Amino acid sequence: MNITHCQVTDCLNQDLSFWLYNGKKFCKNHYNEIFLEELNKYYSTWDGIKETPTRLKYLVGRFYDEHEIALLGKPSLTKDIVHNRSYDWMKTKNGLIFTAIRYPVSHYELGSPVFKEVHQTWEFDTNKLTFTFLS
Ligand SMILES: [Zn+2]
Repeated sequence: MNITHCQVTDCLNQDLSFWLYNGKKFCKNHYNEIFLEELNKYYSTWDGIKETPTRLKYLVGRFYDEHEIALLGKPSLTKDIVHNRSYDWMKTKNGLIFTAIRYPVSHYELGSPVFKEVHQTWEFDTNKLTFTFLS
């Protein structure tokens, strides 16, 4: 009996765990393949001049959430920040550069956290699939 959750026809992966993409279940390998295919489609078709496609921002943010580990005290991102609080997206030969707005805790006043607004520039390398904090 071939038990699989993956919706790709003839997928031989019988792992019962699955990853959801656009409401469909996939094994990890097919999930990565389909995810990166769509990300690359948006990256390659965006001319870098018109408004950055919301879907591209979403996919980059989702990739961050699924692959990066946020370290306390280090500059970090979340899917929400990349998707909803980013601007100045630029297309480079290596990938994408964007600025993200974060609100880390600055200090405490009477026991309550006081947040400050910081703007951080990041690069997402679309070949190496890595995030680099630039400034
Ligand atoms: Zn599969």
